[in-house]
Amino acid sequence: MKTIALLTFAAATIGAPSGPTKPVAAPLSVVATTPDLASLAKAIGGNAVEVKALAKPTEDAHFVDAKPSHIVTLNRADVLIEGGAELELGWLPPLLESSRNSKIASGAPGRIVASTGITMKEKPVSFDRSKGDVHALGNPHFLVDPLNAKIVAANIADHLSRVAPASASTFKANLATFNAAVDAKLAEWQKQLAPSKGARIVTYHKDFVYLAERFGLEIVETLEPKPGIAPSPSHLAQVIATMRSQNAKVIIVQPYQNRKTAETVARQTGATVLDISQQPGAIKGTDTYIDLMDHVVRTLVNGLQGDK
Ligand SMILES: [Zn+2]
Repeated sequence: MKTIALLTFAAATIGAPSGPTKPVAAPLSVVATTPDLASLAKAIGGNAVEVKALAKPTEDAHFVDAKPSHIVTLNRADVLIEGGAELELGWLPPLLESSRNSKIASGAPGRIVASTGITMKEKPVSFDRSKGDVHALGNPHFLVDPLNAKIVAANIADHLSRVAPASASTFKANLATFNAAVDAKLAEWQKQLAPSKGARIVTYHKDFVYLAERFGLEIVETLEPKPGIAPSPSHLAQVIATMRSQNAKVIIVQPYQNRKTAETVARQTGATVLDISQQPGAIKGTDTYIDLMDHVVRTLVNGLQGDK
């Protein structure tokens, strides 16, 4: 009797097969460097993943405040999604080194580099990092072009399927749903922005280049003289002159950029400052990629066509 009791206890403890109930696999722990990548991971991974973003929606992806908790998060990750093209160069490498997690090491199935397969714009022919320019491998803000979001989503689905083959059919189905949603919305967004085709705009950072090209807008200046370098009075004087001569009436700023500088330029040019975030969650009601892009397009349409 004693032996049977012990065996029963052991079986219960180690979790012996218990009838017809299928063991439920724990969701994959997916870590994305930024909330936009996290939103795609959620769309593709569905219930099979648990997604965390390292950067806050209101943080600049180039300059994220690295914290010890990020190391713990990375240590426990099954999958890491990074933007790539040196977007996170200033903060991610030391965190990764400290996290000591081979599952997300470079080249592992659990390591996803979003820029893979993206046609990078503004690849510099020569580059001087000492000047502070942060776009060494081309412009890393490619996700605001919905067609690029589809490329990244496919990349995520491919990697998740390799890490968790049992859920591959779910990821495939979720990818198809996401692509269909983007295709439908893209047609809508293009229609909404069609009357603004050729509109001249100014941005703080070079972060709307892919969006401008997709929707036919023309970025005539940026308030930063170079990506990552703060605006100088002489550069702003040049921006103001260009805006006047080119009739640019809109300046786009993201939550972490210096709105005051944009306001000063706007006052002198009769332009409007538009608050647009490229990160889901920074502005209420923008938790999914589609909701985020709805916000981006709606804000642009209001700013460019509002007073017509
Ligand atoms: Zn940048």
